[in-house]
Amino acid sequence: MSAREPLYEGKAKIIFKGPEDGTLIQYFKDDATAFNAQKKDVITGKGVLNNHISEHIMLRLANAGITTHFIERMNDREQLIRALEIIPVEVVVRNVAAGSVCPRLGLTEGEPLPSTLIEFCLKDDALGDPIIAREHILAFGWASAAEFDVIVEQTNRINALLADIFAAIDLRLIDFKLEFGRLPDGTVILADEISPDNCRLWQVGTDEKMDKDRFRRDLGGLTEAYQEIARRLGLEVPQQG
Ligand code: UDP
Repeated sequence: MSAREPLYEGKAKIIFKGPEDGTLIQYFKDDATAFNAQKKDVITGKGVLNNHISEHIMLRLANAGITTHFIERMNDREQLIRALEIIPVEVVVRNVAAGSVCPRLGLTEGEPLPSTLIEFCLKDDALGDPIIAREHILAFGWASAAEFDVIVEQTNRINALLADIFAAIDLRLIDFKLEFGRLPDGTVILADEISPDNCRLWQVGTDEKMDKDRFRRDLGGLTEAYQEIARRLGLEVPQQG
């Protein structure tokens, strides 16, 4: 890891100062956490795989007209990104029922939803990322009404694009999480990462889990699943460890 002073360390990534004003470096760790960090482990090679997979997805989204914070991948662990003021809201998109929505609404995993759901959670680990409504976002000023509309519009476009990208490699996009932030001029753009750490991806035909649920549910074979996704996307990712 670089000797630079971290500006922020999260559960799976570290943010360092970038080489120029308005830039940051996003470093992908091998740490895996689940259930609000009550379950933790180190999975050798996960960070490198997510760095490469997220680079690929962000570039595909950019090609399709989505503005993102991604500038370039610097090496196997780090990306150069645009500095943003992060909006403290996690945007969860659900195409099929899985994970926390099942006990919350009495749904069965794998059940189709009547329509795609967009949910919002406050990005606050100490509070366990509670689910919130548009009203909370506006009332507490986490985003303006105009920003909220941009987030929802971009999220719907991203969902359609990601569903196609993954369908082309025989994966069903079950659900995923996005984060957004503001550029200094106020433009709201896509931040964070898009990888099997924050998407649920099931093999077409068998519904085999090809995502972080392999860790959350002690299924094993997480790096093998992430490597398989990278291979299907046509990426060459050096193996670690
Ligand atoms: N997710 C995430 N970070 C979080 C919470 C959820 O990336 O802090 C992703 C998760 O990988 C899944 C989707 O958002 O693809 C929905 O997650 P859910 O609310 O079901 O929570 P989980 O089951 O992960 O606790």
